[in-house]
Amino acid sequence: MVEGKINEIHGWAAMKPGLAVEPWSYTPRPLGAHDVEIKIEYSGICGSDLHTIKGEWGPPNLPAIVGHEIVGRVITKGDAVTTLAEGDMVGVGAQVYACLQKDCNPCSRDLDPHCPHMVFTYNSKYADGAQAHGGYSEAVRVDASYAFKVPEAIDPAHAAPLMCAGATVFAPMLRHGVKKGDRVGVVGIGGLGHLAIQFARALGAEVYALSHSPSKRDMCLELGASHFVDTSDKEQLAALGRTLNYLFVTSSSESNQYNDYITWMDFEGKIVMLAIPVGKLSFTPAEFIHSEVAVTGSLIGGVNVLRKTIEFAAKHNIRPIIEKYPMDQVNEALQRMDAGKAHYRIVLTN
Ligand SMILES: [Zn+2]
Ligand SMILES: [Zn+2]
Repeated sequence: MVEGKINEIHGWAAMKPGLAVEPWSYTPRPLGAHDVEIKIEYSGICGSDLHTIKGEWGPPNLPAIVGHEIVGRVITKGDAVTTLAEGDMVGVGAQVYACLQKDCNPCSRDLDPHCPHMVFTYNSKYADGAQAHGGYSEAVRVDASYAFKVPEAIDPAHAAPLMCAGATVFAPMLRHGVKKGDRVGVVGIGGLGHLAIQFARALGAEVYALSHSPSKRDMCLELGASHFVDTSDKEQLAALGRTLNYLFVTSSSESNQYNDYITWMDFEGKIVMLAIPVGKLSFTPAEFIHSEVAVTGSLIGGVNVLRKTIEFAAKHNIRPIIEKYPMDQVNEALQRMDAGKAHYRIVLTN
C-alpha cells in the first residue's frame, strides 16, 4: 500500500459560522488504492463557500476547510490509479466521490452528483465518517475519478473556476442541447454568468446578457453576448417578450422575478435555476399554459461533464476573468467576494 506524502494537511478553516477562516490542520484519510494526493497550487472562491461558512445553507460541520475549484499537481497515487501520474496538473470540482456503478440509477445516467453515495468536496462526510475538506489548503486527497487532467492550453489558474463555475453552467447546456441559433439569456453576470456567456456563444447561440449593472455591458459584448439588457429598464425588458429559448439564472433572484422570466421566453423555452432563489417561488399558473415554458434546475457537473467542460473550454478558448490573492490573504478575498466586488472570480494561490 502506498503512503501519502503529506500526513498533516495545513489549511484555512472556518471554526465558527461567519465570514472568517483561520489556520488549522487535519490528518487526512489514509491514501486509498484509487486515490491521488494533490499539492494545491490554486483554489477558486465560489459563492457556495461563503454560503456554507456563514451557515446560510444550515449549520456547517466545523471546523471546515472550504474551496471546490482546486488545481494542483499529483504528488502521490494509490496502487490502482492508472489514469493519472505523479506530476500531472489536475483539477477537482465540487464533488470528490460517487459509486459510479452501472446499477446505480443516477450514476448510470451521468447524474453522479445525485448518487446516494456522493461526497461533496467539503462540509460532507465519507462512508467511513471522515469529513471531506476542500481547497483553501496545501493539499487534498481524492478519488482519481474526480481529479481531471488540465490540458496544457489552459493556464492552471484559469482552470480552477472552470471546475465548479464552468461545469455548473455547461452541464445544463449539454443536458438540454443548447445549439446554434438558439436565443440564450443569462441573468446575473458574475462568476457563473461571465462563463455562461462564453459557453453559450461557443455552442453557436445568440446570447442575451441580463444585468442591473450597465457598467458590465462592454465586458459582456466582448465575451460574446450579442445583446445586453439592463434589467432595471422596463422598456428593454418589455422588448424581450417571447424571445428566449433558454434562460440561465445565475443570481439568487427574488422569488417573484421568475414569473416575469416566463414572459421573456419563447414557447417551450426552458428556465434553468443555477442559484437558489431567496424564499419560495411564486407563479401565475396560467403563464405555464399559455407559454408551455418549463422551469428546472441544475446542481453541478458530474465526471463526464467535467471532462467535457475542460475539453470544450480548451478548444474554444473559454477562460474566466480572475483576480489572484495569496492564500494567506484568504480573509480579505472572502470579504471582497462577499461585497460583490470580485471581477469575476477570485483564485487563491499557494
Ligand atoms: Zn461552486
Ligand atoms: Zn452512484
